[in-house]
Amino acid sequence: MEENLLSPIKAAKTIKEAESIANKMGVDVVYNDLKVSNYVNEALELIKNKKEVLPKKVVFDVNIFKKGFGKKYIIFPAAFHKEDNFIYINTDAELFENLNNKIIKMKIDKMWSTREKSHFFIHEYSHYKWFNKNKDIYLKLEKENFTDKEQKLILDNLSSYAAENKIEFIAEVDTLIFFNYIIDKKIKDLYINIIKDF
Ligand SMILES: [Zn+2]
Repeated sequence: MEENLLSPIKAAKTIKEAESIANKMGVDVVYNDLKVSNYVNEALELIKNKKEVLPKKVVFDVNIFKKGFGKKYIIFPAAFHKEDNFIYINTDAELFENLNNKIIKMKIDKMWSTREKSHFFIHEYSHYKWFNKNKDIYLKLEKENFTDKEQKLILDNLSSYAAENKIEFIAEVDTLIFFNYIIDKKIKDLYINIIKDF
């Protein structure tokens, strides 16, 4: 597996300091948990180092996962929220306990396509990016499912998350691309075929 060569930023020692680091990168943030703040800042730094456009705003808000998004979101660590264009972080998510081990397990279980620590933030960032590129196409693809044959291809070669719909597929492939993973030829072709609509 390719090691990430970009140097992670130095961890902040207070939430205020973590917010100021994000603000200096041009990202508006609402943080309330130091450990998770450092996690998000590291992901933002990776995006910045790739010279990609950073997300507008990242908000830590446990309640929105409990009430606002609906039941299944309680365990989600993060979610892109189309209504306000923010990326929300659920600091209560169990994932943040023992993050490295859990993320490796999710890769082994083929739930996610990479075992990178910043996987889920980069995944949500992909949603942010494509939604802002073309909302209409994004909303259309979100409702599109795969054929049985495509489903099998995705489950065998990518992740179960990616098989959910075309937007999840794009986000999972984007995360692979982001971390320089080798991508299966058929997966790549399918990806190119889907994003050409944008
Ligand atoms: Zn997603």
